[in-house]
Amino acid sequence: NEKNSTDEEKVQVKRESQPAIFIPVHRSSEIQEARLKLPVLAEEQVIMEAVKENPAVVICGETGSGKTTQVPQFLYEAGYASGSGIIGITEPRRVAAVSMSQRVAKEMNLSTRVVSYQIRYEGNVTEDTKIKFMTDGVLLKEIQKDFLLQRYSVIIIDEAHERSVYTDILIGLLSRIVPLRNKRGMPMKLLVMSATLRVEDFTENQRLFRTPPPVVKVDARQFPVTIHFNKRTPLEDYTGEAFHKTCKIHRMLPSGGILVFLTGQAEVHSLCRRLRKAFPFRRGHSADGSEAMRKFKKAKQKKTVSLPRIDLDNYSALPLDEGDEDREAEVREEEEDNDDEGSDLDLGDHPANSVENADPSLPLYVLPLYSLLAPEQQAKVFRSPPPGARLCVVATNVAETSLTIPGIKYVVDCGRVKKRFYDRVTGVSSFKVTWTSQASANQRAGRAGRTEPGHCYRLYSSAVFGDFSLFSEAEITRRPVEDLVLQMKDLNIEKVVNFPFPTSPSAEALVAAEQLLVSLGALKEPPRTGRVQEMERARLSCPITPLGRAMASFPVAPRYAKMLALGKQQDCLPYTIAVVAAMTVREIFEDLDRPAGSEDESQKLTQRRARLTQMKKLWAGQGASLLLGDLMVLIEHVCAYVTAGAVGACEFAGCTPKFCEENGLRYKAMLEIRRLRAQLTNAVNAVCPEVGVFVDPKMTPPTEHQVVCLRQIILAGLGDHLARRVQAEDALDPKWKNGYKTPLMDDPVFIHPNSALFKTLPEFVVYQEIMETTKMYMRGVSAVEAEWIPRLLPQYSHFGSPLESPSPWFCSTTGTIRCHRPSTFFRVGWQLPAVEM
Ligand code: ADP
Ligand code: MG
Repeated sequence: NEKNSTDEEKVQVKRESQPAIFIPVHRSSEIQEARLKLPVLAEEQVIMEAVKENPAVVICGETGSGKTTQVPQFLYEAGYASGSGIIGITEPRRVAAVSMSQRVAKEMNLSTRVVSYQIRYEGNVTEDTKIKFMTDGVLLKEIQKDFLLQRYSVIIIDEAHERSVYTDILIGLLSRIVPLRNKRGMPMKLLVMSATLRVEDFTENQRLFRTPPPVVKVDARQFPVTIHFNKRTPLEDYTGEAFHKTCKIHRMLPSGGILVFLTGQAEVHSLCRRLRKAFPFRRGHSADGSEAMRKFKKAKQKKTVSLPRIDLDNYSALPLDEGDEDREAEVREEEEDNDDEGSDLDLGDHPANSVENADPSLPLYVLPLYSLLAPEQQAKVFRSPPPGARLCVVATNVAETSLTIPGIKYVVDCGRVKKRFYDRVTGVSSFKVTWTSQASANQRAGRAGRTEPGHCYRLYSSAVFGDFSLFSEAEITRRPVEDLVLQMKDLNIEKVVNFPFPTSPSAEALVAAEQLLVSLGALKEPPRTGRVQEMERARLSCPITPLGRAMASFPVAPRYAKMLALGKQQDCLPYTIAVVAAMTVREIFEDLDRPAGSEDESQKLTQRRARLTQMKKLWAGQGASLLLGDLMVLIEHVCAYVTAGAVGACEFAGCTPKFCEENGLRYKAMLEIRRLRAQLTNAVNAVCPEVGVFVDPKMTPPTEHQVVCLRQIILAGLGDHLARRVQAEDALDPKWKNGYKTPLMDDPVFIHPNSALFKTLPEFVVYQEIMETTKMYMRGVSAVEAEWIPRLLPQYSHFGSPLESPSPWFCSTTGTIRCHRPSTFFRVGWQLPAVEM
């Protein structure tokens, strides 16, 4: 009967629990009716009382129960935004921040000046804003400016179950901010909202909240969903499999929307295209109750006496749409501009789009849904499909918990998810497709049972499901944390080990991060005096330096951020940006050693290998630049590519697949570098506007002087990846022939025969990473001069005899390393010492 209670009664309830203030909202009756059906409405009183009594409250409720759209409204009506403070809601995804702010504005009959959003590059927040949706990253940046978040009276952390790194850190920070605010007489509330019941990391973590926050559970009415597993081991081509499955559902099963889960934008588009070809659909096509509609109904009646169990096992595997290599290259795919939206509804009209077995009698209204889809396109999924047509949404993970699509009865789940992985060596993040967790798969299935009993078709066997991890693990435990530690130090959190992480990264990971940041000069070196314990403690609470603050503002791993921070000298910035962009993209060259698929390809590969050898000879003859080694090769290619583009009509006209093919480059990698260069250039300009770099369309090769400078910049960033050629006495051991010694490994490492420095064998080199193939090979090698080391890496240099030294391998027996006092270098800021020629 609570569900039947009228709005009047609700108002009554609220007046009792919040007698002082009630801010009326004028909703349309249609909206009001829809709201009253949402399970969260039944808990309004419980939620508001919990919020009144406690500084922090956790709310758990199934996706679609109304948490995101309704809870901010409860708070608004109860007066939480009527004073100077406003209501803030964070979302891990941009799409949710934008679309939810619009929805709530509409429900409340308020302008978007009042219910607004802010995401990284855009927003519509005004002075009148009372409810502000934002991404978690935006709030983190705001904390950097005002630690007490004085603008807000309430912060809601939404989608906490996703355990994104920023969400985790925000909860940790807010667990301190809220008590501080209350102590200072500026009360503030924290709400944490989760779609799963697994919230003990937030509630039972003693470091986080001294008194565990109450958990309000919202019981969603969920209809039963029948799960159908694939019998066979899942096929590689899950997009093709999803296509067949969707076709079968559409042909054979009663009406009801279909929601297909794939992993990324490219897959979503590919499946949308195939489905639209198979079931062409035009606006107006079936709106008049035409022949098509009758056929559709007839087909439905005939085939749906009972729900048949679909047999998937007789499909033949289709060739892969995209190679693995492509997938790997789709790092940052999310940022890719998008392509062919807009005219999609008319696809069926075009003769080129007709396929043999296209079936226009069964209209299917196919819509894509993913994070970066334009808002107007996203909004389409919430509208009912044109009469007579079945809705089919092809979505990424965003439809799992962030957005609830009405009218879904069938879910097709590929069982995979595109996840961010971090490469400890390069600090590069990339997106890879992996199996999802059982919890996520169940969330996806749940989307089918919102309004009536539904069906979920899993494109994998139950055995495979059994092997899924139970829950998605917190992102923070899966990645190196030096960038996070730097961000937190930038927030003036000095003792990161004591930070109340909901799930803490390992102590080793934190120590390693702190040490690396000290060695990069981003953190101040701890004092070397005092008792051992004190020194230990100091090692874990180093304060940030001005250089560290500059580095924290660049969107790359700290090693590369250091290079960017130094790059402004001697006009080196465009080259530094080019080399950082190229190093961040995993591999810019095509693999010429791969097995050829055909005679023709084999010939091509041989030709290209010959060409590469020739080019290498050319580089080897280029004196000073040679010493920049493999990184010079990267710069040269970026320069050549950019210049080729400048010759064309538009800025990037030359950046064609043909140019890349001729030069053995991966086209996708080069596109990625192009985007990154623009992004990094903007970031550097924002930090040091006086430098005023721009993405130079015609980059000339660096001068010899600049090359020397660049080598120092690279040494400064990759300093912990320093290697020294083995000394005469050890070189007698055949194992060590032409080998290099590194600080952390006992075994020698080598310069690869493909490296530009293979013949040169400089005494000191820095490398980007070590790859083990037949030997331990260094990748991305650059030569450095011994006398630069004490200046740029004072922490690796020392006075005294090798025997007393903590890291004797660095002490030059020839006495070439003379140490300068470390402090003098960093005290003057972050200028490079004068370049020696
Ligand atoms: P939760 O946050 O608990 O997952 P939401 O508040 O997002 O739930 O959704 C509540 C309801 O509002 C759902 O039924 C959903 O379909 C509906 N809804 C959300 N956004 C829109 C929109 N833009 N247009 C129409 N309905 C919407
Ligand atoms: Mg939600």
